[in-house]
Amino acid sequence: MSTAPAAAPLAAHRRPLVVGNWKMNGSAAANEVLLAALKSAQYGEVEVSVCVPALYLHDVSKALHGSAIHWGAQDCSSHDAGAFTGEISAGMLAEFGCCHVIVGHSERRAMHGEADRLVAEKAAAALRHGLVPIVCVGETLAEREAGRTEAIVGRQLAAVTELLGNRIDGVVVAYEPVWAIGTGKTASPEQAQSVHAFLRATLERAGAASGSLRILYGGSVKADNAALLFAQPDIDGGLIGGASLKAAEFIAICSAAG
Ligand code: PEP
Repeated sequence: MSTAPAAAPLAAHRRPLVVGNWKMNGSAAANEVLLAALKSAQYGEVEVSVCVPALYLHDVSKALHGSAIHWGAQDCSSHDAGAFTGEISAGMLAEFGCCHVIVGHSERRAMHGEADRLVAEKAAAALRHGLVPIVCVGETLAEREAGRTEAIVGRQLAAVTELLGNRIDGVVVAYEPVWAIGTGKTASPEQAQSVHAFLRATLERAGAASGSLRILYGGSVKADNAALLFAQPDIDGGLIGGASLKAAEFIAICSAAG
């Protein structure tokens, strides 16, 4: 019988992920230039994805087909089909080869009145169609200043864990403090790490496989602040808005995650 000590269990590997959120930006001509530049870069072990306006999915899928870059959308319906004028289903996104779909972005929560339960239903719809939902959570400045950050992100996440149960392992969570989105104000690495650690512990208590679920940070990430954020133990990459429209900046952010 071997007397060698039992090997320690391998820590689950969380592959770094950087996702561009183009928001309502782009044009056929500008997208072509941006995607050509993104395709010319090497990303190593970093998984890279761009979530684009749905109308561009056809062109983007053609441009990125066969490359290392994934693509996705910025929202989906909670329903699979029916009388929902203007909506796009997760099944339709899957037909265009989407890998990811952002759900519950703070802009949709604030401007379209999306509530926690609806966001959870959208995540469930994405999973039904084989997409990875990127579930956004985050507090406003007033909520942070009132010391309610954990209560707010915990409530947003609870709606998702309660609906998804053991399907929670299929999601990616993005912590995006509302006060940091598009404002140029970034959470400090310590502020972000503290919320990420809270989210991870909450997810694991809800049944997520220990150590495997990825949690991205989003909010004014730039090439010059990405490395410190991504060096935090519970930050697995980023959801990048404005900076994802500039090829060199986005590529540098992706490199910082590797
Ligand atoms: C976002 O839109 O998800 C985002 C993080 O935006 P920005 O990087 O521009 O703050």
